[in-house]
Amino acid sequence: MPAKVAEEWLNICGGCEVSILDIGDPLLGLLPQLQFVHMPVLMDHKYFGQTGEGTTLEIPQADVGIISGGVRNEKEKHVAEAMRQSCKTLIALGSCACFGGIPALANMWKLEELYEKVYRGSKTTEPAATPNQNLPPLLDSVKAVDEVVKVDAYIPGCPTAPEIIVQALTAVLEGKPFTLPERSVCDDCPVKREKKASGGTLKRPLEDISVKQGEPWENTRCFMEQGYLCLGPVTRAGCATGTEAEGHVKVPRCIKGHMPCRGCFGPIRQGANPLVDMMGALTSIGLDAKEVLDRRALLNRYIGGQNRLRPLPQKPAGGR
Ligand code: SF4
Ligand code: SF4
Ligand code: SF4
Repeated sequence: MPAKVAEEWLNICGGCEVSILDIGDPLLGLLPQLQFVHMPVLMDHKYFGQTGEGTTLEIPQADVGIISGGVRNEKEKHVAEAMRQSCKTLIALGSCACFGGIPALANMWKLEELYEKVYRGSKTTEPAATPNQNLPPLLDSVKAVDEVVKVDAYIPGCPTAPEIIVQALTAVLEGKPFTLPERSVCDDCPVKREKKASGGTLKRPLEDISVKQGEPWENTRCFMEQGYLCLGPVTRAGCATGTEAEGHVKVPRCIKGHMPCRGCFGPIRQGANPLVDMMGALTSIGLDAKEVLDRRALLNRYIGGQNRLRPLPQKPAGGR
């Protein structure tokens, strides 16, 4: 009998759902084993009964639940709890669900400060009162799904690589645990490293990166050693899944696109502190970590949930 799958999206952009559709041919192989019983991105389900006839939130019973997106408001918290109740195994899909994701950058400010900025502090918007009618109240911060309910498997990435969704679903269908290995993006990166930066200063991330088309990756100098902020040393490997190009060499996804890693797969292991570790990595090759502007935000860009980003304490008036 096919496994019943329920999917929900919470505080999202929709990219994680696109990565499910991006699975392509392997999805056809998996489909006979799956029966999607709930998936708002594909089916017009209502929360109160599948056709809107009910009075309470209903998620159909499922063997596997997939949640994309973090938890920003009371409604999303309620949906996450209902998914947990209805699904035997719960998967967090994407960096928003796993760590809070980009929206959790908002955790650097208190709610009142955010309301003030959005509704009254924007030069392009007429000042207005904070809306409070018919809207679910916001939580005090953007939360990863596991801050609200227990999660059984994590598929990080913004969005993740479609191949990893197949690996995770296959493992869950076979009753096996799924976890990515604890190694870094650098461990999967075939570029040449000399353990020292070629220049003394960090470059702007949008300047051209020196990659010669057609050259083997072993001849291309590490982007960080070229002076770009590449978060490969502190980011979990997993995105280097392609094999078709570059003579079948696996290359991390952004590196293949001539862009530095921005850290979307999150920390290499639980409890790691990418901010501190990245400052150490920069220093170790002779770059000045203090040159990284807005370090707290940039080095926690996808992982601001789970208490990593919080409002800084106010400085006392007249204090320095
Ligand atoms: S992890 Fe990225 S792609 Fe997925 S919902 Fe969040 S922002 Fe969108
Ligand atoms: S720092 Fe970036 S470019 Fe250098 S090895 Fe690591 S992932 Fe590759
Ligand atoms: S290289 Fe880094 S930012 Fe790019 S997909 Fe991989 S983990 Fe994410």
